[in-house]
Amino acid sequence: MTARTLPRALTAAATALLVLAGGTACSTAGAGADPDRVDVVAAFYPLQYVAERVGGGAVTVTNLARPGAEPHDLELNPRQVGQVSEAELVFYLKGFQPAVDEAVAQNAADRALDVTTVVPLRDAAAGGHDHEGEDGHAEEEDGGKDPHLWLDPTRLATVADKLAERLGAVDPDRAADYTTRARTLRGELDKLDAEYTAGLKTCQRREIVVSHAAFGYLAERYRLEQIGLTGLTPDTEPAPQRLAEVAREAREHAATTIFFETLVSPKVAETIAAEVGAKTAVLDPIEGLSADGGGDYLSVMRANLTTLRTALGCS
Ligand SMILES: [Zn+2]
Ligand SMILES: [Zn+2]
Repeated sequence: MTARTLPRALTAAATALLVLAGGTACSTAGAGADPDRVDVVAAFYPLQYVAERVGGGAVTVTNLARPGAEPHDLELNPRQVGQVSEAELVFYLKGFQPAVDEAVAQNAADRALDVTTVVPLRDAAAGGHDHEGEDGHAEEEDGGKDPHLWLDPTRLATVADKLAERLGAVDPDRAADYTTRARTLRGELDKLDAEYTAGLKTCQRREIVVSHAAFGYLAERYRLEQIGLTGLTPDTEPAPQRLAEVAREAREHAATTIFFETLVSPKVAETIAAEVGAKTAVLDPIEGLSADGGGDYLSVMRANLTTLRTALGCS
């Protein structure tokens, strides 16, 4: 039990336990400290959000990624590997964070829910997009699966349903509660999906120039065209040739806005924007909340929608 989760953990049962144990239950940090709750380890923020919504007061959720840190290249310290091995359920996305994949394979293979077994990943056509009648116009990044499925709310709802099922298997007494909470979350995600569909229905432009190609699922769902400065991970520097291509694309599609992310430096986006006479704005891939911790998945998705509607001239 961590200091952060302690206040929520003080249910009557937990309080009684603490009294009996003289508080020692809390002195052992990490998973397994609270017998009344299912200890869930989530690999990064959107999975933490789903686990907290579906698990409610019946779970303790630990996020392996720090707020304000970019989670693709997450490294685990020994304490976190310990959390993975002690967790009752590890909720992760295979192929997104190699360090987590490895820790799960070695310590929690039989107690993990891999999101990619619930929702198959789409092939990455990172960065480029095709124009009709043009050949080789845009650079297609080859191979790879796109992990950013949480940016499609309908896919995230499917993931939440599966998590409810798994939590119900771990904690059968409260299986119905998990199902109910997943259904509530699905209702909210469906509402968000409807807002996106309506909000992006009629727009002057449909091309979004983004820093890393995290928006493939969002683009697919709402008929946008993603033009990424870099591929599926944000840590690679775009090649000068790619910068020139993206600048050409941005001009060709009369982009008014070049998007950057909260957890990655805006420098490259600012360079392109200056070159083509566009503005920059944040379009958040919600890989993690920013360190100052505003909002949650739903509110950041709605902020993204407002940003997109302005940038794309949607009516
Ligand atoms: Zn990403
Ligand atoms: Zn184009």
